[in-house]
Amino acid sequence: MINAVKRPSASLAVNGRSYFWPSRTTVVICFDGCDPAYLGAARAVNAIPAIDRMATDGFATVALAAMPTFTNPNNISIVCGAPPSVHGVSGNFFLDRATGEEIMMVDATPMRAPTILASFAKAGAKVVAITAKDKLRKALAYQLDGIAFSAEKADTCTLAENGIKDVTGLVGRKAPDLYSADLSLFVLDAGIRLLETQPVDLMYLSLSDYVQHTFGPDEPEAICFMREVDRRVERLMALGAVVGIVADHGMNDMAEAGGSPRVLYLGDRLDAEWGPGTTRVICPITDPFVRHHGAMGGFVRVHLFAAHLDRDAVISFVRSLPGVALVLSREQACKRFDLPEDREGDIVVVAEKGTALGARAKDHDLTQLAGARLRSHGGLAEQEVPFLISHPLTPQHQAELGATRLRNFDIFSVALNHVRA
Ligand SMILES: [Zn+2]
Repeated sequence: MINAVKRPSASLAVNGRSYFWPSRTTVVICFDGCDPAYLGAARAVNAIPAIDRMATDGFATVALAAMPTFTNPNNISIVCGAPPSVHGVSGNFFLDRATGEEIMMVDATPMRAPTILASFAKAGAKVVAITAKDKLRKALAYQLDGIAFSAEKADTCTLAENGIKDVTGLVGRKAPDLYSADLSLFVLDAGIRLLETQPVDLMYLSLSDYVQHTFGPDEPEAICFMREVDRRVERLMALGAVVGIVADHGMNDMAEAGGSPRVLYLGDRLDAEWGPGTTRVICPITDPFVRHHGAMGGFVRVHLFAAHLDRDAVISFVRSLPGVALVLSREQACKRFDLPEDREGDIVVVAEKGTALGARAKDHDLTQLAGARLRSHGGLAEQEVPFLISHPLTPQHQAELGATRLRNFDIFSVALNHVRA
């Protein structure tokens, strides 16, 4: 429910939480795949002075992402200020148990909750959402009356679809390659140009994790990327914005010493133990943009199809496999991770740090990795993410929130409600 009051200082209720009207332009950045290790490595070589200043002058902590630690569930949790049980997006797709069909959660089904962005726009705020990939744009722009576009499709924006045209003219370069560091930098540059040219109350900038999937924290390409992001954060702060930075998930190396991916092909193991066709493993990280992670991460869902299969026996079997950290029934997983039950598998499997879970070996095309080490996310090992605010919080909240384990989807609440006036 949304208050229809359109005056500053009014607050809006969204998904059961209250948000104050932004007294200054507030920019939240979802730094996709920014494991705290990337900040640590960049900080060690003084590559991120502006982000470091956020930590010393503002507020910094390590928060927990929503599970599974994938991009879509977390971006949507952040803009809804609520976990997947509320908005319904718990992966890229789910298996419809009645039909056996794989249904894309973001493209093919309506979201079940309003976003903070759309709610403020409806109340009269000027709202902007910019994403790296166009796929996420539709979900972030759900019911949003404002500006919403992706770097990927920056050259085809229209007033009718995106609330803006000629984004490439505004930014001064053409739409970036989908697999490039510039995909993220373009998002930040577009946000900066909008702040320079028009009034904005609330802005959400969602980057891409291409760099983190491809390079470890200490590699020069990653440091260079961090430096470029930092320069843009500096500019956003110089323009007077309150800036919040959070990530959708961390990132871990999932390769053997020799470089080959360390994968537990759970589908093959289940077929060998219980017979082909009796179970189906769903890897909800899968999407058409898989070149950089080979469609594998640290979290899968198992559906049981044969009536004679005893779920507890299957759970015990999966628990005995090497590389498995946690096996839960649907009910346990939904309770522990705040997931929507109707989209959950019969069994949830989370990998140990450093191991990826796959379906059957033949379902995965590892040539997509093009010889690179597998770096991915999805499990509990990628749940810790940076949480930074550019401005100091009220003294009470500085102490209180410093002692609390925040979630990444608390970022709008802290940025709007707790920054010192
Ligand atoms: Zn991501």
